[in-house]
Amino acid sequence: MADQSNIQSAASKSIRPFKSSEEYLYAMKEDLAEWLKTLYDLDVTADTFMDALETGCALCRHANTVNRAAQEFQSENQEAAKSMKLPSKDVVFQSRNVIPGSFLARDNVSNFITWCRQELWIKDVLMFETNDLVERCNEKNFILCLLEVARRGSKFGMLAPMLIQLEEEIEEEIRDQKESCHSVEDEEEPEPEPYVWPQKRVLCDMRNLDELVREILGQCSCPAQFPMIKVSEGKYKVGDSSALIFIRVLRTHVMVRVGGGWDTLEHYLDKHDPCRCAAFAHRYHQAKASGQSQGAQSKSSSAHSSRSTSPGP
Ligand SMILES: [Zn+2]
Repeated sequence: MADQSNIQSAASKSIRPFKSSEEYLYAMKEDLAEWLKTLYDLDVTADTFMDALETGCALCRHANTVNRAAQEFQSENQEAAKSMKLPSKDVVFQSRNVIPGSFLARDNVSNFITWCRQELWIKDVLMFETNDLVERCNEKNFILCLLEVARRGSKFGMLAPMLIQLEEEIEEEIRDQKESCHSVEDEEEPEPEPYVWPQKRVLCDMRNLDELVREILGQCSCPAQFPMIKVSEGKYKVGDSSALIFIRVLRTHVMVRVGGGWDTLEHYLDKHDPCRCAAFAHRYHQAKASGQSQGAQSKSSSAHSSRSTSPGP
């Protein structure tokens, strides 16, 4: 959990080192790097993320670890396992003296991709291609695929990155809410609280979350500040619509759960807060007009926003 000073500086820090459209990817890399380090004692950080994984060795080793976890899950939870697709076929790979960019490296990465498709049945939108990693053609697709692999592994009881744990926490909250709504109708008993936060997990420091949200929101320069109303801890109603969003702090990043993915609050507001939409569009068109290499970015941000549908309440 981030300490007080970290949290306080997060809001101001988060806009500076990154273009807001790239910060969510950095946050994901940071999270996945820490996860791989914990699992395999791998020497990897957000900054060395692609370099550390480009030979495909760590990826293939992870694939086989997921297979083991799925087997253990199956033997311990036979009933539950019946309704699940379980990966089983091990990935054969070269684990020593693999030179980045070499045929062997490509072969390893390609074998990992085959495993993702054939053993985990990962959807095409979440898949990457060998060159996305080896030639750094599309970092985003690679990162989203690894997150999905981690999500699957967690279903078999493997350690999950913090972001996936936060997703599970939010899903649990949505489920509990639906159940509590349902029981009100069924039992005609007055519900004392609309929702009681489960005590077992405290992943995110909610006291500071609201402070951070208000700080980021305070950067709005609209005549009337863009409305964002706290409904409950980590849950906000945004804009004039009744759309509800879930917000969590991940290290120094303020993250918003959108559709099946995540964005940073700042990037989310770039697309929703009128004063920022204008500035964002202006910056974007300016960069485009000046002929900077915005091709990849525009492709990635449009692909990203297509996933950014608001989660249903
Ligand atoms: Zn505004």
